[in-house]
Amino acid sequence: MARAEPGAPSGAGSGTASATAPGAVPKSAEVDARALHLILHPTEQCNFRCTYCYERFEIGRMAPDTVAGIKRLLAARHDLERLHIGWFGGEPLVAPDVVRELSRTARTHCALHGIAYSADMTTNGYRLTEPLARELVGLGIGSYQISLDGDGEAHDRTRRRANGAGSFATIWSNLEALMASDLDLNILLRIHYHRDNLASIEALIERLARAFPGERRLELHFRSVSPLGGENDRDFPFVERARRQAVERRLAEALAGRLRLRRRAESGTCYACLPNSLVIRADGTISKCTVALYDERNIIGRLHPDGRLEVDDARLRPWLEALVCGDPAARACPLRALASNGARDEVQDASSQRHSRGKAEGKRVGA
Ligand code: SF4
Repeated sequence: MARAEPGAPSGAGSGTASATAPGAVPKSAEVDARALHLILHPTEQCNFRCTYCYERFEIGRMAPDTVAGIKRLLAARHDLERLHIGWFGGEPLVAPDVVRELSRTARTHCALHGIAYSADMTTNGYRLTEPLARELVGLGIGSYQISLDGDGEAHDRTRRRANGAGSFATIWSNLEALMASDLDLNILLRIHYHRDNLASIEALIERLARAFPGERRLELHFRSVSPLGGENDRDFPFVERARRQAVERRLAEALAGRLRLRRRAESGTCYACLPNSLVIRADGTISKCTVALYDERNIIGRLHPDGRLEVDDARLRPWLEALVCGDPAARACPLRALASNGARDEVQDASSQRHSRGKAEGKRVGA
């Protein structure tokens, strides 16, 4: 995706709402406007009710007007060199038909105009069967991020389905089928730890290392569960920030190099501060950050059914300022830079827990 270096994005302008040409993104000398990074929510419903989840599930599946708007927005961007779509939600596989329809449009458009196309998906893995994954890989979705909270029971205690039942057995059997297949994909397993599941995480590490020895398509990433404003935050056994490094070191030692491990990224540029990176929610709202879903400052505009992006420059500007302020922490998480001092720790936690792929993986979106 677009390379972003410190610069002066010109998209932050008058402070009034403006209608931007379909697909147009603010330009600067440093930001490659011929690359577009879209994070799409095909639905904001989820088949899980994780005990620490902060989402409210108020918006359902992507409205036909929003689907039409995305298609028209893409159709207007034959000037692109690269297009990357990140599928997010809700659980994107609750609305696989939306994923299929827009993926076909994106692939066809990119093939027709010589645009490099890539896509990834953040999913809970419950519906990611081998036949569906085969279809999605065929549609260009080559990378997946799946979270596990322990081995069996411990996972099921926090990653509950909407009906209260556990989810581990099905996710594991999908994982086995995917790893037994010849599919050309990558799976990042985010292993969520908290005070009460550490022994189970070590058991999970053993299970993974034995089941998939040396599997290059798998990568593990240890992350603490953090308070993000969910209704159970008060009683949840979070690991204190000061202890997390030691815990992650211990888990890495248990893995002992038997599978690939992605280390915590200390720096990088979050997609939220790049002008050519947009979150399009299921109702057509345009945002920048995939965590602050209920923060007014994160609502920067609207996608219209005709493909027009109506962006409020005054709301966009603070997100882009992280690129020019020279503070690596602000670039790593512009939401943190926006937050008041009192909220900083929570935002820092938020920045580590549930993201679309990209910054969460320590990648520079755009590099
Ligand atoms: S919480 Fe911070 S790092 Fe995460 S998406 Fe939002 S702005 Fe980026």
